[in-house]
Amino acid sequence: MKIWNDSEDPFRAKREWMVETQIRARGVRDPRVLEALRVIPRHLFVPPEFQDEAYEDYPLPIGYGQTISQPYMVAAMTEALALEPHHRVLEIGTGSGYQTAVLAYIAREVYTVEYVPELSERARRILQDLGFTNIHFRVGDGSLGWPEAAPFDRILVTAAAPEVPPPLWEQLAPEGIMVIPIGDLWGQELYRIRKTRDGEREEEALFPCAFVPLRGAYGFKA
Ligand code: SAH
Repeated sequence: MKIWNDSEDPFRAKREWMVETQIRARGVRDPRVLEALRVIPRHLFVPPEFQDEAYEDYPLPIGYGQTISQPYMVAAMTEALALEPHHRVLEIGTGSGYQTAVLAYIAREVYTVEYVPELSERARRILQDLGFTNIHFRVGDGSLGWPEAAPFDRILVTAAAPEVPPPLWEQLAPEGIMVIPIGDLWGQELYRIRKTRDGEREEEALFPCAFVPLRGAYGFKA
């Protein structure tokens, strides 16, 4: 993890600037989330030709028709999860692995599922090089969850879904929280969904968003 404390890191000032002008300025206050975004080298997760834009206020292409989410979106989704250090988290859509790093920086263990093998492999390499040892990777249909490792305290879906995939709801622990964009292919609302101690569902729409589609059994048909 030496790269994180490297005062020579030329991107360090950009990260500070990103957190102040894009994240704190828009109301994100969770100190764990702010610290994670200050520390994690986002430029390592974007293709080389976009490195100079890694800390800008928009998503970027990562190949295979997929994107790395805008920094603010990563921060807002993570804050919405109310993550704590003892949590076990399921993430659907590893993508670049940047959101995975933010989750793994805060939580005890992260299980992350990605549909595109090449993206999963690339993310795994970067995250291992950074020294993360609390991330479990799987290639496959994340709309089915990861039943062997369930239940999860928190579930984050980083692709747009037509509905809450029933397996993910089942794999959410009592008093757990799921954050997921729900809508159609053209636009969605970010939802925070809680499972009460008794297994009841409480839903809250947070704000509009636009994600790439979730594939698989409970995603959009290609
Ligand atoms: N958090 C990622 C977001 C990547 S975009 C980042 O910031 O980099 C969403 C990702 O979800 C894409 O990589 C896409 O391939 C993946 N995806 C889509 N449907 C999926 C499914 N059913 N299971 C697992 N991953 C899926």
